[in-house]
Amino acid sequence: MIGERRIVLEPREVPLGGVRGMNVLRVLPHRNLPTIGAWCFLDRFGPADTRMRVEPHPHIGLQTVTWPLVGEIRHRDSLGSDVDLRRGQLNLMTAGNGISHSEYSIGDEPIPLDALQLWVVLPDGARRGPGGFERHTDLPQVALQAAEGTVATATVVLGEFAGVTSPATVHTPIVGAEIVVPAGTGIRLPLRPEWEHALLLVEGDAIVATHDLARNDMLYLGDSRDAVEVSSVQGALLFLIGGEPFADEIVMWWNFAGRDHDEIVEARTEWEAASDRFGVVEGHDVRIPAPPLPDVRLMPRGRRI
Ligand code: MN
Repeated sequence: MIGERRIVLEPREVPLGGVRGMNVLRVLPHRNLPTIGAWCFLDRFGPADTRMRVEPHPHIGLQTVTWPLVGEIRHRDSLGSDVDLRRGQLNLMTAGNGISHSEYSIGDEPIPLDALQLWVVLPDGARRGPGGFERHTDLPQVALQAAEGTVATATVVLGEFAGVTSPATVHTPIVGAEIVVPAGTGIRLPLRPEWEHALLLVEGDAIVATHDLARNDMLYLGDSRDAVEVSSVQGALLFLIGGEPFADEIVMWWNFAGRDHDEIVEARTEWEAASDRFGVVEGHDVRIPAPPLPDVRLMPRGRRI
């Protein structure tokens, strides 16, 4: 067991690269905490007026979870998917052994855009398996009775929350849920004591486990809790992540999640060689080249929290 924790994970600003030089806020991986459950990556891009052009790039060993907050995003991938995504809809792409995709904002002009993108590392059974793509437009919701104020609402994006399960395909015991707390409301958010959890404040104000959380900060809660107190004065939008602590040590580099250096090098080589492993995203004449590898062997990042 990890035990109860109350540790603030602050985001860092990361340039995504590309011509437009878009910056994102990265909360995970954190230097002291590579995973929370099987969640291994959390970016927020926006709010900003942006013409987003993320050209085709590869993934292995993970699922990408795109959760738009404002604006529409067009997703295309090497399985032939071509969909527009908007608020309330989950875009879940499973990389398995290899996939590639692109992400564009709609239209040619900058548009208001804000979204979370998270990655879930795949366990051994699934990480060498086939790729997949799912879009879910009708996710289950849970009403959370308030001790004070009005009812809060949880949208179960991935996995299981409060006994309600998302239809999206998962490969480990996990939860991802959007929590909306109305103004003047205090709730007890139910948690599973055997899972670790963390809460990100997306918008508004919130006190979580007596901590006054800043916007874009995430509070890591550890495990061993059956609930956490959340309240808001002006109203809050939060995102809950958690799950069974991921057993394997992972090596993450660029868009790849593997178990050791050699797997990453192999994936990089095959992307650079335009191997069939990653397929082709139709409608593009450019793709993102892999960055150079570091001079040292890639090592798993340990957990120091
Ligand atoms: Mn991607």
